[in-house]
This record gives sequence, C-alpha cells and structure tokens, in this order.
Amino acid sequence: MVSRVIPVDPFDLVIFGGTGDLARRKILPGLYRRFLAGQMPDDARIIGAARGEMDDEGFRALVADAVSEFIAEGKRDGETLARFLGHVHYVAVDAKGEAGWTDLARIVRKDVVQAFYFSVAPALFGDLAERLHRHGIAGPEARIVVEKPFGRDLESAKALNATLAEHFSEGQIYRIDHYLGKETVQNLMAVRFANILFEPLWNARHVDHVQITVAETVGVGGRGAYYDRSGAMRDMVQNHLMQLLCLIAMEPPYRFDPDAVRDEKLKVIRALQEVRPDDIVRGQYRGGPKAGGAPSYVEDAEDPASRTESYIAMKVQIANWRWKGTPFYLRTGKKLRARASEIAVVFKEVPHSIFGEEEGWRENVLSIRLQPNEGMTLSVMIKEPGPGGMRLTEVPLDMSFAEALGEDGTDIPDAYERLIMDVIRGNQTLFMRGDEVEAAWAWTDPIIAGWEARGDRPKGYDPGSSGPEDALMLVHRDGRRWREIRE
Ligand code: NAD
Repeated sequence: MVSRVIPVDPFDLVIFGGTGDLARRKILPGLYRRFLAGQMPDDARIIGAARGEMDDEGFRALVADAVSEFIAEGKRDGETLARFLGHVHYVAVDAKGEAGWTDLARIVRKDVVQAFYFSVAPALFGDLAERLHRHGIAGPEARIVVEKPFGRDLESAKALNATLAEHFSEGQIYRIDHYLGKETVQNLMAVRFANILFEPLWNARHVDHVQITVAETVGVGGRGAYYDRSGAMRDMVQNHLMQLLCLIAMEPPYRFDPDAVRDEKLKVIRALQEVRPDDIVRGQYRGGPKAGGAPSYVEDAEDPASRTESYIAMKVQIANWRWKGTPFYLRTGKKLRARASEIAVVFKEVPHSIFGEEEGWRENVLSIRLQPNEGMTLSVMIKEPGPGGMRLTEVPLDMSFAEALGEDGTDIPDAYERLIMDVIRGNQTLFMRGDEVEAAWAWTDPIIAGWEARGDRPKGYDPGSSGPEDALMLVHRDGRRWREIRE
C-alpha cells in the first residue's frame, strides 16, 4: 500500500530558530522528506530566521548537513538535495530587537499560505508575535506554530495564551504536541470510530483498566539544569500522556473536525478526578556502581538537593458515565529498561468460563505501540493447536503499520512532517487548543503543589530498571500488574 500524497498550496514557512537543535533534527529533515514525497509545491519556500548572521548559502549548508545526518543515505542524492535547497532561504533577525525585520517583511509573500514556526524559547513568543504584526508581515490568515513547553503552570500558560491572542486568533495558533502526529495515535481514532467492533466494549463495563507508558533509556544529561525546573509531570504527563489519555477516553466527536475533536478531549480533562497522594509515585534515577559509574539524576541536574522527578507513575480516574471505575495507570520516566511507548487497553474477564479454571487464559489486550515499530496488536485467546484436549493460548492479531504501508516502514511520515503539512493545509485537529492546555494545567497544578507542600522526595530507582519498587505496588495493590517495558 503506497501512501497518497495530497498536494498543498504554495507557502512561505518561516522557521524562527531555524539554526537550532529542533530545526536541525526534526523540522528541516521532515520538510526534506515531504519534498521527496512530492508534496512541496514548486514555489514553496522555507525561510530560516535566527539570530546568527548568515546568508542563504550558509543556511543551505546547515540544512544539507542536517539532511545528511538525519536522512538515510539512499534518499539524499546530490541532485535531489540541490533541488530541495533551492526552496531554502535565510534572514538574520533578532526577536528582541529591530535587526532584520524589514528584510523579513520584504521577503515573505502575502499571496501564499504564511506559516511562522516559533522554534525558539517561549520567552520570545510574545516578541515574535508583536513584531510580525507591527512590521505588517503576518496577514490575517497567517498561522503560527508554537513548541512545548506551553507554560509551566496554569498562570504562565494563561499569560502565554493572552500574549499570543493579542496578535493572533485561536484559529491561527498551532500548539504542537508531536505525539499527536504519530501514525498510531491517529489510527487509534480510526480504529475506535471507523469500526463497529470496539466501541460497544469501550467503557467501564468491559475495560478493566488502561495503561499508558512512555519509557526512555536516556537520562537528562546535557539539559539537566533545564529539565530540573520541569520534571516528568510537567515535561511529559501534562501534555503528551494527557493527550493520549484524551484520545482513548473521549466520546465520539460528531464529525472529524478540529473543534469537534478538541471539544471532546477537553471534556475528558475536565472530568479527571483529583489524584490522591498515594496514587502517585515519583522517582529519580540513581547513579554509582550499579549504573556502571554513570551519573545519578542529581548529578545530571547539578543540584544535590533536587527533588524533581525523572519518573512518575500515577493512577488516574475519570468521573463520567463511560469510565467510572476504570483506572488509567500512567507512567513515564528516563533511564528505564527500554525505549518504548505503549497504550494498552486491558479488557475484563469473560463473565463465565465454559472451560473451567483453564490455565493459559489471559485477558484481551489492545496494545497501541507508539515507538518503536508503530502498530497495534490485539491479543485474543484461541485453542492451542493439536490434540490433547481444549487448552487455551493467546495469539496476537498484529497490525504493524510498517508492513501494511511499505516494505521497510520508511513510507510512514514522521510526526513533525505530518504536523507541518497540517499547518500548511490549515487543519488544527492534531494541535492543542488554548483551553485544553489550560485545563490540563488546572488539573496538574494542585498535584504538584501537593507534593511541594508535603516536601515529598522522589524514590530512587536503578538505571535500566522499570522504575521504583513503589510503582509496582501502585498496580499490585489493585490486583493488577504493569506490562513489561520492552522494545
Ligand atoms: P536551540 O537553543 O538549539 O535553538 C534556539 C534557536 O533560537 C537558534 O536558532 C537561535 O539562533 C534562535 N534564537 C535565540 N535567540 C534569538 C533571538 N533573540 N532572536 C532570534 N532568534 C533567536 O533550541 P531548540 O532545542 O531548537 O528549541 C527550540 C524550541 O523548541 C524551544 O522552545 C524548545 O523548548 C522547543 N523544543 C525543543 C525540542 C528539542 O528536541 N530540541 C523538543 C521539544 C521542544
């Protein structure tokens, strides 16, 4: 199955922070892949805008470097790369000063789709928005794309929303959560709402519990000081895990339309119950000999007294008709056993087993893997083949997208390239609306305030483990177990 490429209108995409790490690793390689797929119109332009003095050629060299580092060798011959670089330009601008803005105003066209990607520190968002407006660069249809973190609590998120709202309407603001750009995440909506099979079972009567895991093997080394102001709750739960939870838990929207989908997600966030302190386990990775001499979290964070969590597990409940009584267990952490992200919907036992106390019986699980190997698996029980009576065994019905979409899975667009093309198309479905972000902070803030007031210390865990022991207890005490973290 070859994925279809739907043409987009001509555009000018200005990447503020075009020389930064995110642009190099994700945005520019993503655009190259869209170019390769034939989705970039002939007169589309990518305009890098950052602080450093540089001409078009200098920036093209940087883009060529990024492409050679992040795109497979077979996909970047000199001729293709040269054609791609023909779309690339650069303007030196200072978000906080006046330098470069008249140059940018001269270059950016008014009669094409205008998109401004704010790939810079959030502290600069207001300056960029104001200058784009004052210099008459952004037209009434212009779109801005903003990166995480979107605030660090409700107050700062509200302030950021208010700053952007001074110059752009909500329909022009694209708040990126790259988890929503993943093929699997969108497929979750297709599986739920385009099949009759799952929806009748998708509720507390039939779903025992849901597990959402985002596990990383890396620590915070290199950006420890930044991470230490954030922690797993702010960096991962408030945004990524919350968005995944919403897609699992939301009611069917009346249409696959940006506001209809986001209205339903918002209702889920508002229905989240307060989380009790003993339903949360926070952890920090240890260092030392067991870690092969690797630094501990506090060493990485350069603060021996740090109480910031590099791991969190929590039991979350949704107070509505559909989900009352079905816990959602969330966990995410760094330096864990494997890099693996998964949503598992664990169904209940059959009401009565006609096979007696048959060994081998396991509950049905719909597992949605976000990484690695995006795909979905539904485990079902069958009879173990062969003679010897009725013994049950579990087999997976595997829906691996790599196989379904192309020989090696390289046809699956990366989250960033898909989301950028959605911006150009003007489709906000996979972007967070301002009220969603604020509602998520409104739920997160009291939890953080609670552990700060109590002076809770995170529990230690060994690198390469599945997290602190107490996190096991969080599900064991409910008679359940975590799924194994594996690649
Ligand atoms: P970076 O420090 O690598 O790059 C910052 C960029 O901003 C550079 O191009 C720099 O020239 C430009 N810049 C800085 N000050 C400027 C000014 N006054 N005027 C104009 N340009 C200026 O940062 P990054 O890692 O690329 O991150 C960019 C944004 O993306 C941040 O908001 C970050 O939180 C977010 N983000 C980054 C990642 C990542 O993996 N790097 C992931 C998620 C979100």
